[in-house]
Amino acid sequence: MQVPAQFEYHKATSVDDAIALLTRHGPESFVVAGGHSLLPMMKLRLAEPETLIDINGLDELATVTVESDHVRIGAMVRHSALLSSPVIAEHFPIFTDAERLIADPIVRNRGTIGGSLCQADPSEDLSAAFSAMRATAVIRGADGEREVPVREFHRGPYETAVAHEELLVAVRVPIRPASGSAYAKLERRAGDWAVASAGAMLRVDAGTVAEVGIGLSAVGAAHFVAPEAEEYLRGGPASDEAFVEAGRISAAHCSPSADQRGPVDYKRHLAGELTTRVLRRAARRSRGEEA
Ligand SMILES: Cc1cc2nc3c(=O)[nH]c(=O)nc-3n(C[C@H](O)[C@H](O)[C@H](O)COP(=O)(O)OP(=O)(O)OC[C@H]3O[C@@H](n4cnc5c(N)ncnc54)[C@H](O)[C@@H]3O)c2cc1C
Repeated sequence: MQVPAQFEYHKATSVDDAIALLTRHGPESFVVAGGHSLLPMMKLRLAEPETLIDINGLDELATVTVESDHVRIGAMVRHSALLSSPVIAEHFPIFTDAERLIADPIVRNRGTIGGSLCQADPSEDLSAAFSAMRATAVIRGADGEREVPVREFHRGPYETAVAHEELLVAVRVPIRPASGSAYAKLERRAGDWAVASAGAMLRVDAGTVAEVGIGLSAVGAAHFVAPEAEEYLRGGPASDEAFVEAGRISAAHCSPSADQRGPVDYKRHLAGELTTRVLRRAARRSRGEEA
């Protein structure tokens, strides 16, 4: 099938209007953001919404704003806007690293941060990056806003904490002075989904790891995180030996599946190697040795 089934179309005029439309049209209504995941699924008849609610006109969701100790990234911020944002490059190079490796310019010009997180594909890159940064999802429904740590946002493959009559409106990422972050991914060819990928955030205080976040994608890590490796690092030395051991722990605790992108052992090896590399890079960035 290359043609979607028939559907009704509504263009939301505000976040409240989108929520009211979702409520009125019931469980067979879906919001469409960039459409780069939803439309292919509709063409394949894997999704057959009766009603599409277009949130592309909601400019209030398309901003990156510094708010005291965190940056608020709106759900409708496109991948390309995240990639070119100087605020993001300054505070969170992990996202600039990740966006360079997500899909291609056509997808990045249209696909959104909110759509990526809400699609909850197990190989999605930003979920691992936001989890490494210990970010918070802001979800709005008819009764107002609620906040959910991104580490609790994914309930399983293609399932999130966003209820049907709610919208993800933003993600809040804490600004941590004297910290560093990085993302790395192995893909079969430019623009492909990950064979495996890893992201890290590190704050080092007098040579000791004060705060750490490690995100993994495409390797079956629950909630896109590596808690055992984080636990090992926290409070210990920010040394190369420790980063190698954290990589070994990440590899041992993830749960990849064999598929056309590679066998289990290969993906496990990559999870470990990429974890070590991003920790090293995050440490260099925290010391100001690398942009
Ligand atoms: C060729 C190709 C290559 C790709 N490669 C990669 C890659 O390497 N790495 C990667 O991470 N991703 C990749 N993607 C996915 C890409 O990042 C998409 O942009 C993303 O999956 C979905 O974003 P979207 O805005 O298009 O969402 P849509 O397709 O519009 O929506 C996806 C889902 O999220 C829901 N939704 C959207 N926004 C909201 C919201 N604000 N609140 C509640 N629900 C919402 C929709 O109802 C739908 O169920 C690729 C996609 C394509 C087509």
